[in-house]
Amino acid sequence: MTTPSIPTARVIGVRDDIVSIRMLRDDEGELYPITKNEVVLICPRRNDGERQERLQAEVLRVRHGEADVQVFETTRGVAIGDAVEQTGQMLSVALGPGLLGQVYDGLQNPLELIASQHGFFLPRGLGVEGIDHQQKWSFQPAVKVGARVKAGDLLGRVPESRFSHKIMVPFNLRGEAEVTWVQEGSFTVTTPVVRLRLDSGEEREICMQQRWPVRVPVNRDLLREGYNQRLYPQQPMLTSIRLIDTFFPVALGGTACIPGPFGAGKTVLQGLISRYSNVDIVVIVACGERAGEVVETITEFPNMPDPRGGTLMDRTVIICNTSSMPVAAREASIYTGITISEYYRQMGYNVLLIADSTSRWAQAMRETSGRLEEIPGEEAFPAYLDSAVRALYERAGLVETNDHEQGSLTLIGTVSPAGGNFEEPVTQSTLRTVKTFLGLSAERAYKRAYPAVDPLISWSRYLNQLGDWFSRELSPEWVGNVKRMLELLREGEQIQQMMQVTGEEGVTLEDYLSWQKAQCLDQVYLQQDAFDDVDASTPISRQQELFALLLQCLDSPRVFTDKEEVREHFVRLTGLFRNLNYSRHGGPDYTRYRGEIEQLGVIGSAPAHPVRD
Ligand code: ADP
Repeated sequence: MTTPSIPTARVIGVRDDIVSIRMLRDDEGELYPITKNEVVLICPRRNDGERQERLQAEVLRVRHGEADVQVFETTRGVAIGDAVEQTGQMLSVALGPGLLGQVYDGLQNPLELIASQHGFFLPRGLGVEGIDHQQKWSFQPAVKVGARVKAGDLLGRVPESRFSHKIMVPFNLRGEAEVTWVQEGSFTVTTPVVRLRLDSGEEREICMQQRWPVRVPVNRDLLREGYNQRLYPQQPMLTSIRLIDTFFPVALGGTACIPGPFGAGKTVLQGLISRYSNVDIVVIVACGERAGEVVETITEFPNMPDPRGGTLMDRTVIICNTSSMPVAAREASIYTGITISEYYRQMGYNVLLIADSTSRWAQAMRETSGRLEEIPGEEAFPAYLDSAVRALYERAGLVETNDHEQGSLTLIGTVSPAGGNFEEPVTQSTLRTVKTFLGLSAERAYKRAYPAVDPLISWSRYLNQLGDWFSRELSPEWVGNVKRMLELLREGEQIQQMMQVTGEEGVTLEDYLSWQKAQCLDQVYLQQDAFDDVDASTPISRQQELFALLLQCLDSPRVFTDKEEVREHFVRLTGLFRNLNYSRHGGPDYTRYRGEIEQLGVIGSAPAHPVRD
């Protein structure tokens, strides 16, 4: 960020991290202009010999000649009369090669670099470049001199980790431009590689890095100009988690919410989703968690092997803000994460963003709104909470890019409702917006039924919406069968409640059989062992096979004489299915268990007791 040196305003008030400033007048006696969301730098007076600090702040509200700004750092020592400089830029991030594998704070300061240079915490008032300005990248042009280009068009490619990173015309360029010069070779991200002549005659140098304001969708102008199209999600983001893919699917480019009561397995689930989902790039925003949890994420993640080879970190960006960092940076971190995700989507990649947790983001918004003394809505959240949540999730989606490729951004947000109360405003706003709800339940976690997503409270609108895909790729009966099995789970739950009152004797043989079937479905299909090499991930083709086999068993017309016989049958069947789940697909064990299941469950030729016809 450029560092202008003339003060254009002075501090007139300080309340926590909100600082009020009054604009100065220029030589002509006019007030210097200031705009909402612009970044300004507060310069506390220094004692002799000290470094001049410049504290980044964002303009939240502008009144005539005055403004309220929120400082991203502690405002200790800021006093009335201190100088304020303007940057003329909105809060923005650097986009270019070198983002993958980074761990950033909410303002895109790379944490590892800070740790090596300054100890773990960044001294106040210092910013570090989001992308290394020394490293060189090999640029291969995709355009020739004379080419006509517009915003978002491809200029060249750079190999980044295992990806081809597209260097594109800045997304805010207006109109068309002509390429007047281009160079191939190895350069830093701030070296010009292409020169454009705009229709206005102005020449502009393009380097591999561009800056983008985080609160504005990267493709806003591209959509408006018709260079890009938003598409309806057409296929699922396959996670290899049976419960999600089969029962509560999430679309590529879709949205989902996971509420996480403490200890319900949220961290493990997020890890599985980021590791096994069929996406190219994963961006994780760890927003306002306790410092310990964040440290866990950053130390564990880089070492996690990627099922596609290499480590997971090679295709991951982590943005993390602990609750000990200033509230404004916490609020910004989600936008930083989304902007980076949108950037890679623009290259035609499938990107998954996990925002953990959006409740902390909303709380940061509430604190700020409180300090600005805005009229509060429900539970003191700002009245615009609902629209802010919607605007956030609307940045997800499937997009056709300039070169007619498709890129997707799937957004999974977690919420942490206090005391598991789903009625609170953030959860409610989120549920009105997202299309999949994966209701993690403390009760299921307590029973060690992992992943502890409760099938009776969870839902997915994509089951119907992606019906064509399921019907074409899996089977025409797929969606109908899934719904029938969900019904069986519901019925099983009702019978279980009845049995809690009356005991097993109080229910009919038929009900008892339904209950056993529901239990079996839960134990062998919904539950999945994250810590077993094989069971941790079930590809969709295997899910399809397993689901069909299980259906055959559950639909078997076999008749039982008493409950004991039912119980024994299902104990055996469940055991065999479990062993099947732990066996490598197609291996000798797999074939053997599959054969035994067919014998017992489908054909019924090896009954524990004689069978009545
Ligand atoms: P949270 O983040 O919700 O506090 P964790 O994800 O850390 O909870 O999970 C707590 C514990 O639950 C884990 O250490 C693990 O033992 C168990 N667990 C969670 N999910 C699974 C799973 N899918 N399979 C097996 N065990 C799990």
